[in-house]
Amino acid sequence: MKYDTLIVGAGPGGIFSAFELVKLNPELKVLVLEAGNPLEKRHCPIDGKKIKSCIRCKTCAIMNGFGGAGAFSDGKYNITNEFGGNLYEYIGKKEALDLMNYIDEINVAYGGENTRKFSTANSALKKKCLENDLHLLDASVRHLGTDINYIILKNIYEELKEKVTFKFNAYVTEIDKQEDGFVVKTKDEAFYGDKVIVSTGRSGSKWMQDICSHLGIDTKSNRVDIGVRVEIPAAIFEHITDEVYESKIVYRTKKFQDKVRTFCMNPHGVVVNENTNGIITVNGHSYEDEALYSENTNFALLVSNHFTEPFKNSNEYGESIARLSNMLGGGVIVQRFGDLIRGQRSTPSRIAESFLTPTLSATPGDLSLVIPKRQMDDIIEMIYALDKIAPGTASDDTLLYGVEVKFYNLQVDVDQNLETKHKGLYVIGDCSGVTHSLSHASASGVYVARQIVSK
Ligand SMILES: Cc1cc2nc3c(=O)[nH]c(=O)nc-3n(C[C@H](O)[C@H](O)[C@H](O)COP(=O)(O)OP(=O)(O)OC[C@H]3O[C@@H](n4cnc5c(N)ncnc54)[C@H](O)[C@@H]3O)c2cc1C
Repeated sequence: MKYDTLIVGAGPGGIFSAFELVKLNPELKVLVLEAGNPLEKRHCPIDGKKIKSCIRCKTCAIMNGFGGAGAFSDGKYNITNEFGGNLYEYIGKKEALDLMNYIDEINVAYGGENTRKFSTANSALKKKCLENDLHLLDASVRHLGTDINYIILKNIYEELKEKVTFKFNAYVTEIDKQEDGFVVKTKDEAFYGDKVIVSTGRSGSKWMQDICSHLGIDTKSNRVDIGVRVEIPAAIFEHITDEVYESKIVYRTKKFQDKVRTFCMNPHGVVVNENTNGIITVNGHSYEDEALYSENTNFALLVSNHFTEPFKNSNEYGESIARLSNMLGGGVIVQRFGDLIRGQRSTPSRIAESFLTPTLSATPGDLSLVIPKRQMDDIIEMIYALDKIAPGTASDDTLLYGVEVKFYNLQVDVDQNLETKHKGLYVIGDCSGVTHSLSHASASGVYVARQIVSK
C-alpha cells in the first residue's frame, strides 16, 4: 500500500507531524514506523533490586517507543528561542514561538489543564544572578511532570490511532528515493510514500548519519556538552524553583572563559540512568504529583565543547568520556563535592555517612579520573558561583553524578522548510540537529505537516 506520508519515529516530532497532518486533512493516509513499543509496553527492567543496571534491551524502553525519548521525561515544555534548538533560524522567531504555544495548548487540552506555567522574565532571580556574574535566560516553561506527560501521550495516542496507522517494533533500515516518492524498508517489509518525515531523535543519531551518506545529504558536525548531574537538598534551590521552576543559568568561567550552564532542573526529582547507543549516562526527571516528590532537587551542569579542524566527531569525544565512566564504575559514577575537592574518591561508606540520600544507585568513585581537567575545573567554578545565589550548593555532601553528556546530532542539510535536497524528504526534531528539546521537536513536526498539507 502506498501512503501519502510515512513518518519514521514516534517521538514528539513524529507524533505532532501525524497529529497536524490528519487534523488538517483527515483523508491523508499516514503511517508511523516506530522502532520501540507502544506506550503501555514501555518498561525499563531496572527495578533497583533484581536488576540494578542496564541490561541493554533490544530497544531501550526509556528512549524508544511511542512518545520517544520524551515519554518518561520531566515534561518541561520550554517556550523560548533562547535554548532547546535553533528552529527559529529556519522558520523565524515568531513562527517558532507561535508553534511552541500551539503545542502547549494541545498539551493542556489533552490532560495538562491543571499543570503550572512559569516564566523567568522580570523575576527577582534575574537581578540576583546578574549581581553574581550569572545570566538567567528568558523562557516560559510548562511543567507537565512525568506523570501528566504520560497521560497526555496516552490521550493523544487514543485519538490518533483511529486516524493514523502505527507500526511498532518496526526499525527502519533503509530509505530510498524512487521516481514517484520514497520506499522505506524494515527488516521484513517495504512501505511506499509520497513524502517521508524522518524524526528519529537522538537515539537514531548514528542511523541518521548512515542514511544521509546513503542519500548524499550533507551533514555538519555539531557540538557536545559534557558535565555532571548535581543533586542537593530541595530546600537549597527552593527560592529559585518555586519562582521560575526551571532556571537556565549561564556562567563564563574565569579560568578558561568557557560557558557552563544549568540544564534540566528537577525540583523534588530523581536522578536516572540514560542509555544512548549502549553507553550509560545520567539524566533526571520529576513528577507533578506531590505524593511522588523526593527530598532532593537535581540539575545538570554542562560545559559546551565546540571543535574546530581537524577534529570532526564531537559525539565520539563525548562517548569516549562517558565510556570511561562506564569502564570505571560499570555505569554512572557518583561523588560527593567535598570528596572531589579533597582529591579523594567517594566510597559506599562515605556516601552512606552523608546527610543527603542519593536518588540513583550509582557507583561511588572519582569523577576527576573521568572528566578532563578543563571541564572539571569549569564545573567546580560554576558550583562556587551558584553557591552565591543558592548557599549550600557547594556543600561537602552535594552529590555529583557523571557523566552527563548532551549529544547533539549532526546538523543535517535542510532548507527553511526542513526539507532535504530530495524534495518530499523532511528531517525534523532532534535527529536533524535543528532541535534538542520537546517543544522545538514538537513544533518542527507541526511546521512540516503544515508545509506538506499546503503543498
Ligand atoms: C530522560 C530524559 C529527560 C528529558 N527531559 C526533557 C525535558 O524535560 N524537556 C525537554 O524539552 N526535553 C527533554 N528531553 C529531551 C527530549 O526528550 C527530546 O528533545 C525529544 O524527545 C526529541 O524528540 P524527537 O521526536 O526529535 O526524538 P525522540 O523523542 O528521540 O523520538 C525518536 C523516536 O524515533 C525512534 N527511532 C529511532 N530510530 C529509528 C528507526 N531507525 N526506525 C524507526 N524508529 C526509530 C525512536 O525509537 C524514538 O521513539 C529529555 C530526554 C531524556 C532522555
